[in-house]
Amino acid sequence: MSDALRGTGALFTPQLFVGGAWRDAAGGRTFAVTDPADGSELAQVADATVEDARAALDAAVAAQEEWGRTAPRERSEVLRRAFEAIVARTDELALLMSLEMGKPVAEAKGEVAYGAEFFRWFAEEAVRIAGRWMPAPAGGSRLVTIKKPVGPVLLVTPWNFPLAMGTRKIGPAVAAGCTMVLKPAEQTPLTSLALARIMQEAGLPDGVLNVVTTSEAPAVSEALQADARLRKVSFTGSTEVGRILVRQSADRLQRVSMELGGNAPFLVFDDADLDAAVEGAMVAKMRNMGEACTSANRFLVHAAVADDFAARLAERMSSLVVGRGQDDGVQVGPLIDDDAVRSVGELVEDAVAGGARVLAGATRIDGPGHFYPPTVLVDVPASARLAAEEIFGPVAPVTTFTDEDEAVRLANDTDYGLASYAYTRDLARALRLAERLDHGMVGINTGLLSNPAAPFGGVKASGFGREGGFEGIEEYLETTYVSLPAG
Ligand code: NAD
Repeated sequence: MSDALRGTGALFTPQLFVGGAWRDAAGGRTFAVTDPADGSELAQVADATVEDARAALDAAVAAQEEWGRTAPRERSEVLRRAFEAIVARTDELALLMSLEMGKPVAEAKGEVAYGAEFFRWFAEEAVRIAGRWMPAPAGGSRLVTIKKPVGPVLLVTPWNFPLAMGTRKIGPAVAAGCTMVLKPAEQTPLTSLALARIMQEAGLPDGVLNVVTTSEAPAVSEALQADARLRKVSFTGSTEVGRILVRQSADRLQRVSMELGGNAPFLVFDDADLDAAVEGAMVAKMRNMGEACTSANRFLVHAAVADDFAARLAERMSSLVVGRGQDDGVQVGPLIDDDAVRSVGELVEDAVAGGARVLAGATRIDGPGHFYPPTVLVDVPASARLAAEEIFGPVAPVTTFTDEDEAVRLANDTDYGLASYAYTRDLARALRLAERLDHGMVGINTGLLSNPAAPFGGVKASGFGREGGFEGIEEYLETTYVSLPAG
C-alpha cells in the first residue's frame, strides 16, 4: 500500500469480502488501483475470478432466508449505526475517495455527507414497509398484499461517486431484507471495501453484503446473471454496459434497475436571474469535474441573454484552480484516466472543427496525471458530437433558442432523459417545463438535483427504476397478493 494512503486510517482490507470473511482471490491474483493525479500505484487489491464471484453469491443465497425474516427495526439499526460511522470517518473516507478518484477533498466530503444520508433515509424507511388490505369490489373476499425482499441482488457501481453509488443501492437493499454481491468499479474499489468494513462493524450479519473487486467485470456479471439464484441486478454506469446487462437478464427474466448515462439540457430563459443561473451552471457543470450523469451537457440559452451568460460563465470557469485533489484550494481535480482526457479533448476538437468558438480552456494540460481545463464553447453547431454524446468532463457548450417551444424541442432532442435544468422567474413557465421536459428529473432554478429523499432516475436511454425517495425501496421488494375469505 502506498504512503499516500497513510492518512486514510487503514479503512480497508484489499481483499474480497465473502460470507463475512476477508480473503484473497482464488489463485491469489491482484490488480492495481492508481491515483489519477499522477498515475502512481495506491494499492493492489484482490482480483476476483468467476469462481470467487460464485462463492460470493453462495454466501448471499445462504444468508437470504434468515436476513429476510429479521425484524425491520434490526435492519434499520444496522443502517443507522453505519450512517453514524461514515459521518464519524468523513475525513478519512474523503481522502480515500480523493486519492482513488481524483475529486478535491472538499467535494469528497460533500459526497460522504450525501452518501451517508442514504443510510439514514433507508434506516427510516426499513420500518415502514407495509402492504394493504381491501374488500374485493364485488364483496366475498378480502384482497391483501404483503411485501417481501426480492432476494439476492447483484449491485454494479461506477467510479465517479465511489461511496454514494454504493450506499444508494446497499441502503434500500438492506432495508428491504435483500442479501447482496457488490461489484464496484475497478478504478475505485477501495472506498467500497472501506464501506464493507463499516457495515461489518455496524453489525451486518455475515453473507448479507459480499464485495468482489475484479478486473473481469464482464465474465463475473455473465456468470452471476446466468445463475437462477440471483434475483435482481441493480446497475449504475454507461448505457452501453446497461444494455449488455439487460440482455443478460433476459434468459432468467431477472429484475433490473438501470441508472445510465445522461445528456442534461440546462435552459436559461430571458427572464432568468442571470447571476443565479451562472451560479447554478457552475454546480450543474463542475460538480465532480463534470464526471456526473446529471452533469449539464448542453447549455441552451435565450438569444437575448446568451452573450452575457456565456461571458460570465467563461470568467467563472477560467478562474477555477485545477490540480491534485488533496492540495489546498484546488477546485478541479484530474479526470479518471487517459481515455477520459482523450475523449473529452476529441469532443471539443470536433465542435471547434465544426465552427464552435472557445471562450475558455480547450487546451490539453501536459504532464503526469489526467487533467483537462474547464472549457466554455459558444456557437456550437447542432451537428457537433458533444450535442448528442455525454461529455463527462469540464466542458460547457452554449447554444441559443428564441422561444419556449424551441427550447423544449432542443432539450428533448436527445436519446437520454435523466436530468434537466431550467432558469426562469415565470412560475407558469416553470410548471409547463416540469410537464414538458422528457427527463426523469427537472431542476427549476437550481443546479443540484441529488437528494436521498427524492426519486433519482431517468427515462429513455437513461434507464429505468428509481433510487432514493419512497420509490427507492420498492426496487428491492416483491408484492405477494393473498386472497382471504370475507369471513
Ligand atoms: P461503465 O458502464 O463503464 O462501468 C460501470 C460499472 O460496470 C463498473 O463497475 C464496471 O466495472 C462495470 N462493467 C463494465 N462492463 C461490464 C460488463 N460487461 N458486465 C458487467 N459489468 C460491467 O461506466 P463508468 O465509466 O464506470 O461510469 C460512467 C457512466 O456511468 C456514465 O455514463 C454515467 O452517466 C453513468 N452514471 C449514471 C448514474 C445514474 O445514476 N444514472 C450515476 C453515475 C454514473
